[in-house]
This record gives sequence, C-alpha cells and structure tokens, in this order.
Amino acid sequence: MLLNFETALGVGYSSNSQKIRVLSETWTSKNIYCPACGTRVKKFENNRPVADFYCPKCTEEFEQKSKQGTFGQKVVAGQYTSMIERLNSEIRPNFFFLQYMKTMSVTDFFVVPKSFMTPEIIEKRKPLGETARRAGWIGSTIILPKSGQIFYVKNGIVADKANVLNEWQRRTFMAQVNKQSKGWLIDVMNCISEIDKQEFSLKQIYGYEKILQALHPSNKHIRDKIRQQLQFLRDKNYIEFLERGKYRKL
Ligand SMILES: [Zn+2]
Repeated sequence: MLLNFETALGVGYSSNSQKIRVLSETWTSKNIYCPACGTRVKKFENNRPVADFYCPKCTEEFEQKSKQGTFGQKVVAGQYTSMIERLNSEIRPNFFFLQYMKTMSVTDFFVVPKSFMTPEIIEKRKPLGETARRAGWIGSTIILPKSGQIFYVKNGIVADKANVLNEWQRRTFMAQVNKQSKGWLIDVMNCISEIDKQEFSLKQIYGYEKILQALHPSNKHIRDKIRQQLQFLRDKNYIEFLERGKYRKL
C-alpha cells in the first residue's frame, strides 16, 4: 500500500476541495479493500447521495470523509436532519475516514461499520449566523465511536489485511443488536477500547463508572449494567472470560 496521493491527478483543479476529493478518492479506490470480504472497493460512477464506494462482491457501501490533520474525537459532517435521516435509513453506508498531511500522504485510514453509526453519535451544530450565505443552516458533527474504528493505516503504519478482516468480523454481531440495547453496549465497548492492553479487569471497566453514569443519568445500577454488557460481549466472542473479573479481547 502506497501512502502518497498521486498529486499529478490534481493538476487543473482550481478548487482545492475538488482537488482533494479527486486525490483522496483515487487513493482509496487503488488501495482499499472491503473489510467484509477483502475485495478492492470501487468508486460509484455518478454522484450518489448515499455512498462513494461499493464492494463489487458483497455489495457493502462506503461513504468517505477526509481531513487534513487529525480528526480527533469529532468529525464535521453534513446537514443535521439529513444526516440523522440517513443513519436511520435501511440503506445507510459504512464510513471510511481518511486523514492526510500537507505533504499529500495518508497518515490514518479507518472504517466504521454502519452498525456503529447510530443517530446518537450525531451532534447538532449551531445554526449559521444571519450574515452567512446559508443563514440558519444547521450542520452536524460525528462523535467517533472508538470501539467501531478499524484501522487500515494508523500513524503511517499499514495494518495486516488479515487483521483488518478479523476486526470487521468481530463486530458483525452488532448488526443484529436492536437500537435500544446498542447505546449501552457501544458505551462499554468504547471503555474496553480505551484500555491499550489485550487483557483487562472488571475493576478497570468500573473505573469508567462515572462517565457511564453521566451518559445514562437515570440508571441506578451502572455496575450491573456493565457486567451484563460484558457477558453479552463474551457470548458474541468479542471478549473471553479468563477467570473471575479478568477478561481478554479476542
Ligand atoms: Zn465485500
């Protein structure tokens, strides 16, 4: 996998955003494979409203967001109501996130499965002021779910394809989880993702109790809820129980 954009393709574009779109999308169509089956993704020929790429083999679809510099936790997205509508729709895409440097090379690239792209992670932005061309327009921000990020490239280092495919498979159960249960599950998975080591303890997850309480203010049994999610994740082979209070990521 080459990390540099083919900058020659950008010659002739007067708009920088258009140029970046061409360079980043060309890069993806030449380097990125479908995380579900490993087939090289293809760019949709025309401007489709819902997605930029598709897998010719298993028909997964992907929308790409690119940014120069680091994404951090939040990514600026499109109009708020249309974003919510899309994430609620049956045909919503998975999301690719591409981060590049001024030198026109990719530093990070990850996919977030659509099952992790819930309306809850979309924040409303302040309406544009009266002097703006699109006065009153309300944009949105995606709060990236850490547990849903599957990296192809991280800090300039390319991940093994087998690893990317495995990380995708580990998360496929999420497509079957109903909306009501998803919030808690993803929140606990995000806590697990915060822990760098493969093995972790129940005590470490209890360390996130206050954060989880703030996310679920009406819940009076945070620790019970945490244990319940861990059991579910064990049943789905996302983690395994080693001994009392000890777990390992699979
Ligand atoms: Zn595929």
